[in-house]
Amino acid sequence: MPDGKPAGVRCIQLDDALRCKIFGQPERPTVCGSLPPSEDMCGDSREQAMRWLGWMEEQTMPTSDPGGSDGVFQSPTN
Ligand code: SF4
Repeated sequence: MPDGKPAGVRCIQLDDALRCKIFGQPERPTVCGSLPPSEDMCGDSREQAMRWLGWMEEQTMPTSDPGGSDGVFQSPTN
């Protein structure tokens, strides 16, 4: 996506089977390759992975207060 993927917006490179259409290609954003699947991030179900990704997107929204009023991050497992 030319200006980056806004939080909460489906990536235009995601196909109907939920696969990356540019996986392994040089135009795939570096950040995507820097997030390999892990049990910490994905849990053991799609629901857990989506909850974690949603939390990360919310925490990194430019218009939000990522640290909250106390400046302390709270993960979805806390
Ligand atoms: S890996 Fe990156 S480019 Fe590919 S679908 Fe996911 S967010 Fe989009």
